Amino acid sequence: MRLLVTGGAGFIGSHYVRTLLAGGYPGYEQAQVTVLDVLSYAGRRENLPAGHPRMDFVQGDICDLPLLLDLLPGHDAVVHFAAESHVDRSVRSAAEFVRTNVSGTQTLLEACLRRGTPRFVHVSTDEVYGSTDEGSWTEDAQLMPNSPYAASKASSDLIARAYWRTHGLDVSVTRCSNNFGPYQFPEKLIPLFVTNLLEGRPVPLYGDGHNVREWLHVDDHCRAVQTVLTGGGAGEVYNIGGGTGHTNLELTERLLALCGADRSVIRYVPDRKGHDRRYSLDDSKIREQLGYRPRVPFDQGLAGTVAWYRNNPGWWKTVDSHRGAADPIDATGGLT
Ligand code: NAD
Repeated sequence: MRLLVTGGAGFIGSHYVRTLLAGGYPGYEQAQVTVLDVLSYAGRRENLPAGHPRMDFVQGDICDLPLLLDLLPGHDAVVHFAAESHVDRSVRSAAEFVRTNVSGTQTLLEACLRRGTPRFVHVSTDEVYGSTDEGSWTEDAQLMPNSPYAASKASSDLIARAYWRTHGLDVSVTRCSNNFGPYQFPEKLIPLFVTNLLEGRPVPLYGDGHNVREWLHVDDHCRAVQTVLTGGGAGEVYNIGGGTGHTNLELTERLLALCGADRSVIRYVPDRKGHDRRYSLDDSKIREQLGYRPRVPFDQGLAGTVAWYRNNPGWWKTVDSHRGAADPIDATGGLT
């Protein structure tokens, strides 16, 4: 068994690869993995073990068809995490989101088709459904993406579906809620707030702080992706929900408590343009059909995440200074 994991040097992809190499997925203890990652600002080689005998690392772009055609033979499946993933960046500049998320996904699907790759899991997001004031989306809900990021992911989902329907490629799509955990780039809300608080800085909260997100630990998301890889159906979509909905203000208060700060450090900043109010997934399909359940209780996962950032300042201080130098982004309350 050999897997090609795109975006495997980023937050979620690297968690998936580390878990796989550590024998965390039954039946895949001997699997070989090729990580393909362009190492954008969000990808770091240090997120992966150095010189692991079952891993090859290739620095390259999912938009590079000749590279993919060279690389794919011998692989049994592709797990596709690579993407531009930050909504704020897509609001400021959408072109790279279309290039990587739409063209890149199409190029990867095309390469798999030409090389006869047997299986493909496309990792997507709940943001493709838009925003809802009440109820929860099933997989059949209408796609109503609001940000350029969400629109690019919805487009990639539809391209994936088309390669299944037209060509019979064995593709499944996953749509997960917001993730949290170690190794997340400190532009997203939780790592941004935690690293600010650990340095005694204020935290910037968008709008009134009442936007609602469901939070899932990255370990649960990756296990769900693995469950879909092994048991999911061709052409099927699987929601992966956390079931833990919180307003950003509630989440911020938990982070303040974990970092020993009080509400005086909250700075309310003007809302993001087109900011989605609430996401909520109905994930009964993956639970009932594939037997998946999240395992990490929210408060326990959050405390572990804060502890990781507290214990690994070298990781985020390097990333932070790199971010400031290479791509100055105003550190507002970035949500995925
Ligand atoms: P991330 O930004 O941390 O990592 C993305 C990785 O993709 C980086 O390593 C980057 O270098 C790589 N990459 C970017 N462009 C590339 C290209 N053209 N070719 C090859 N590699 C490229 O993102 P993440 O948070 O780990 O998200 C991974 C996937 O999960 C994305 O598809 C995202 O849409 C999806 N997702 C994320 C969340 C979340 O909360 N973070 C929730 C649901 C779904």
